[in-house]
Amino acid sequence: MKELNIETIKAFKELLGTSAKRIVIVPHVNPDGDAVGSALGMARVLKNAGHWVNVLSVNDYPGFYRWMTGHNEVSYYSKSSKKAAQLLDESDLLVCLDFNHLSRTGDMKSLIENYTKPSILIDHHPYPQDFPSVLISHPECSSTAELVFHVLTAAGFKEHVDKEAAEALFCGIMTDTGSFDYNVSDPQTFQTVGELLKYGIDQEYIHSQVFDNYSADRMRLLGYCLNECMEVFPEYHAAVMFLSKETQKKFNFVRGDSEGFVNYPLSIKGIHFSTLFTEKDDMVKASFRSKGEFAVNEFAAKNFNGGGHCNAAGGEVFASLSDTLDKYRELLPDYQAELIRTKSE
Ligand code: 5GP
Ligand code: MN
Repeated sequence: MKELNIETIKAFKELLGTSAKRIVIVPHVNPDGDAVGSALGMARVLKNAGHWVNVLSVNDYPGFYRWMTGHNEVSYYSKSSKKAAQLLDESDLLVCLDFNHLSRTGDMKSLIENYTKPSILIDHHPYPQDFPSVLISHPECSSTAELVFHVLTAAGFKEHVDKEAAEALFCGIMTDTGSFDYNVSDPQTFQTVGELLKYGIDQEYIHSQVFDNYSADRMRLLGYCLNECMEVFPEYHAAVMFLSKETQKKFNFVRGDSEGFVNYPLSIKGIHFSTLFTEKDDMVKASFRSKGEFAVNEFAAKNFNGGGHCNAAGGEVFASLSDTLDKYRELLPDYQAELIRTKSE
């Protein structure tokens, strides 16, 4: 990872000041393990340092992240927009985590946009929007959780890191690297994990909380999708899976059930571009993953109103599932040369 900018860290320290501050931490909409882990990890450290901290999430997140210390104190805009506005009103400082654009705050966008007090953004997505007072952006970093650990350490908060904070930060790094499968070419990530392990965290327990916590319905849904709802295009090194509302209903789908589905096609020999389309009430949510150099964030931005990282991105389509699939199939030939050139194996 690149060195942290000393001036930026100084500005971060100045915003936190010497007296207790009222801080609101906001992760991105539909929070994933990194968003929840970095938010709860950072909240814990700042609380330990004497600050008054609230984590404010746009909406709920899956149950397999609801074990980290502080999870039961999270406020949700989706449950009470009034309380969310009040928390922001009464705060001195806003910390945004794990997103690069205000659009990633969903229905809470205008509240965040109109926040007039100091704000900080700590993130690892490329092309950050320049909205905060202090911007700490490191797209080369494995996860926001790892970056948060470095920032807190550099800003003199290391003595306030404890086991509970380390658990949450570890969870963020673990989930954003697919259990240390990708985004881990920088030795520093493993050094960070080594540091976190020194706090006595049980990495086996954490892994199990996240990955061995699914319902039988979810496993059956996965089997069904792999059988019935996956198309493989060997000539394009690509595969797509789709999850209609009908299928979701059949398997009592709950948020989080399709977590990880998009990765499965990548384990087919020769496939290095995988897509999952999930039908929602008013749109289709797209998830993209790749191995090697095929930049799915560019693919998502250009064709599916989205963005993200080079190897993991997402987007939204305001069309039917079948039209979305048609669009995807029609796009593949345009990318054939690139998909062949960026072959990972
Ligand atoms: P997932 O496929 O797990 O939902 O998202 C993978 C990554 O893609 C996220 O970490 C995020 O960076 C990005 N992403 C997902 N959905 C969207 C979206 O609708 N818009 C943008 N700009 N990025 C997204
Ligand atoms: Mn992340």
